[in-house]
Amino acid sequence: MSAERKGKNVHVIDHPLAQSVLTELRNKDTTQIPFRKGLVKLGRLMSFEMISSFPTKVVEVETPMKVKAKGVVVPDMEHIVIINVLRAATALVEGMLKSFPHARLGVLAVQRVEEKEGIENVKPVKFFVKIPKFNENDTVIIADPMLATGGTLLTTIAEVYKVGKPKRLLLCSVIACDYGVDRVMKEYPDAELYTVAIDHELNTHAYIVPGLGDAGDRSFG
Ligand code: URA
Repeated sequence: MSAERKGKNVHVIDHPLAQSVLTELRNKDTTQIPFRKGLVKLGRLMSFEMISSFPTKVVEVETPMKVKAKGVVVPDMEHIVIINVLRAATALVEGMLKSFPHARLGVLAVQRVEEKEGIENVKPVKFFVKIPKFNENDTVIIADPMLATGGTLLTTIAEVYKVGKPKRLLLCSVIACDYGVDRVMKEYPDAELYTVAIDHELNTHAYIVPGLGDAGDRSFG
């Protein structure tokens, strides 16, 4: 991963636990259930990383020992909307919901259609969109495990902005490819990407190389 990729709005999570789970996902011998469990784990770990960027507020509580203790709350955690880009993000979202139990959930069903060979000919086709109402106090997190050409994310972000402008727009992709990162961040420089790895290549079918294959197929068969 190149240094400039670790700029203000691109966060590569290099925690050893996240990296080891990703390694298991990349392994072609990892079967469906461990693959899905790995995505759930990453959903939780990636959420921890996102939460560490949230402001905290100091509070005082009374403990059962009848004394006061200082602590913190994370107010923005009560104002989260997660968008599940079907079907590949489903296991990732399951993990995210463990960290954001109060989140409201939207879904977007998009299929990649390859008109002919070549990455510029792989187009996202939208089938179904349901995004809950939100306002400028809400943080929207789009979960899409593979940021390849960026087509799906660009479509999803456009749908989010039809509903409103969130306080923050976070993108949660397990692997992101340079090509898609450049496209998305150029169009939406205020978006904040959280990823576990940046891979550099796309093949002619717009799959990420080395990548991990088709995240939806590997999760659900
Ligand atoms: N979607 C996937 O599931 N894998 C890729 O490599 C690219 C897009």
